Amino acid sequence: MVHHSDVVIVGAGPAGSVLAFLLAQKGWEVTLLDRARFPREKTCGDGLTPRAVATLQRLGLYEDVAQRAFPVRAARLYAAPHADITLPFHPFVHPLPPEGLILPRKELDDLLRRRAEEAGAHFVPQARITHFLPGQGNGTIAGVAGTTNGHPKEWPARLTVMATGASIGLHKAMGILQHPPHDVRAARGYWRGVQGLEPRFEFFFTPELAPGYGWIFPVGEDVANVGVGVYAAPGTPVPSPVRRLHAFIASHPALRDRFAHAELLDDVRSFPIRTDFPSHRICGPGWLMVGEATGLVNPVTGEGIDLAMESAMLAAEAIHRALEMGAIREKVVCRYERKLRRHFGRMFQGLRWLRKRVMRPRAVRILIQRAARHPGMAERIMGITLGTRSPFTAFLPSTWWWILRG
Ligand SMILES: Cc1cc2nc3c(=O)[nH]c(=O)nc-3n(C[C@H](O)[C@H](O)[C@H](O)COP(=O)(O)OP(=O)(O)OC[C@H]3O[C@@H](n4cnc5c(N)ncnc54)[C@H](O)[C@@H]3O)c2cc1C
Repeated sequence: MVHHSDVVIVGAGPAGSVLAFLLAQKGWEVTLLDRARFPREKTCGDGLTPRAVATLQRLGLYEDVAQRAFPVRAARLYAAPHADITLPFHPFVHPLPPEGLILPRKELDDLLRRRAEEAGAHFVPQARITHFLPGQGNGTIAGVAGTTNGHPKEWPARLTVMATGASIGLHKAMGILQHPPHDVRAARGYWRGVQGLEPRFEFFFTPELAPGYGWIFPVGEDVANVGVGVYAAPGTPVPSPVRRLHAFIASHPALRDRFAHAELLDDVRSFPIRTDFPSHRICGPGWLMVGEATGLVNPVTGEGIDLAMESAMLAAEAIHRALEMGAIREKVVCRYERKLRRHFGRMFQGLRWLRKRVMRPRAVRILIQRAARHPGMAERIMGITLGTRSPFTAFLPSTWWWILRG
């Protein structure tokens, strides 16, 4: 007899593990699958924004993460030597907690996965999912199938969740996406011996990195996660960020001295990022998606752990209700999609506009210079980039006009 779970979740990143944790806590039988063996590397900047900290606090997981992580209390925005500010999170990120954290994903994801297991979820590593099990009724999904340790296996369930990040193999299998919607590609490496590390996120918006950005996030006293993200121009493939990262570290005047004695600890790795929320269906009869699988990553900063965990919280509520009602019909499951669109729709509209119109070296330089003189403006910029304020209402149209005109 094949065993049926209440919920099967594909992908044990922050979205999948937080969802498994919440549903298992409610007493549902959850199977969490991942193609990797844990702990596993995930190519990432490892930065947890104040928004992520707020969610970890709501989940009761903050202490667990914070005691292993490097705390940060500010963000530095650098565009040029005379356009360089450090904004303390207190008071600028109010009402979010004035703290960020940096913890390598190998540790963070394993910790969240273990908490899900401790809450009662059943975790299966090295389970590569390739297709779906059809249920009764048109388009209904009733679980997943794939291989574990090379052997074919099926995992039937009342509800199926895709938490597969930027990988789109299962989207293609469903006929939801034909082409990769990746519009950002980012690369990162760990360097030891970096000078001038402080408890802050450092972001670089210099002309050499345009269209894109760079970061230095300290993971310890003298080790930093350093990376660049490259935005694709519409309709063109995203250029490789790896060469851009090496060139930036080797030759940019803002970094050259700081990296003079630094050594690269491992290979530089790159990975695509999806910021296309909401470009396709994210639910249907018997199934839904969470996290980056829905395109939920901040289009300006490339940060998505915070949004992945928030979407998991919304999904957990919806799934709990649907299972209690005994209804996995589209109408019930897709209340989640409406909620997600309400929660993130406007934020993404604003951030996409910001990326297209404002994230250019000259405009960013002017913004930073103005923010250095006007604390109110700094607070609004912080709110816009964290997605707690809309760029359409944070500034008068005339202010934007002035900034964009240069
Ligand atoms: C270089 C880089 C830097 C970044 N920096 C930051 C940062 O500093 N802060 C931040 O907040 N965000 C950052 N991001 C974005 C962040 O990594 C993602 O938004 C986040 O990991 C999304 O979480 P998730 O749980 O949705 O997916 P993921 O964390 O990607 O997890 C998906 C999981 O699904 C599994 N999986 C996929 N397909 C299958 C399959 N067919 N079968 C079984 N398992 C499968 C994968 O193995 C993986 O474990 C960065 C991204 C990149 C590429």
